Amino acid sequence: MNIALIAHDSKKELMTQFCIAYCGVLSRHNLCATGITGKLVAEATGLRIERYMSGPQGGDQQIASRIACNEIDLLLFFRDPLERKPHEPDEASLLRLCDVHNIPVATNIATAEALIHSLERGDLDWRDIVNPKK
Ligand code: PGA
Repeated sequence: MNIALIAHDSKKELMTQFCIAYCGVLSRHNLCATGITGKLVAEATGLRIERYMSGPQGGDQQIASRIACNEIDLLLFFRDPLERKPHEPDEASLLRLCDVHNIPVATNIATAEALIHSLERGDLDWRDIVNPKK
């Protein structure tokens, strides 16, 4: 499955620790990420990650375009709800597209834990049936 990772600055350490903890399951899937998130996670875990531009530079929109093409199966987007971001409209559009295309999305670590366990159990394999092209 294709999994996208995004983390706001204050959540990057959390995302890195999460990916270290679940490196085994994540290594069995195709990963992509916004620029800095991808760099930090790849350096900490050794995972292969396709990196897009940094979020504020358009990386969120690059991931959104893959979601629009039904090329992303799971989005882990660790957001900082306490800080305003200049690219909030891009992020709102990204989350909207997840709803349009029924993409499982976690915006905090509690939901991410639930989704990663679902992924490990194969509960999300229905996405391969819906999108057999991948
Ligand atoms: P970044 O982007 O991984 O390049 O920092 C994340 C974001 O959208 O803030």
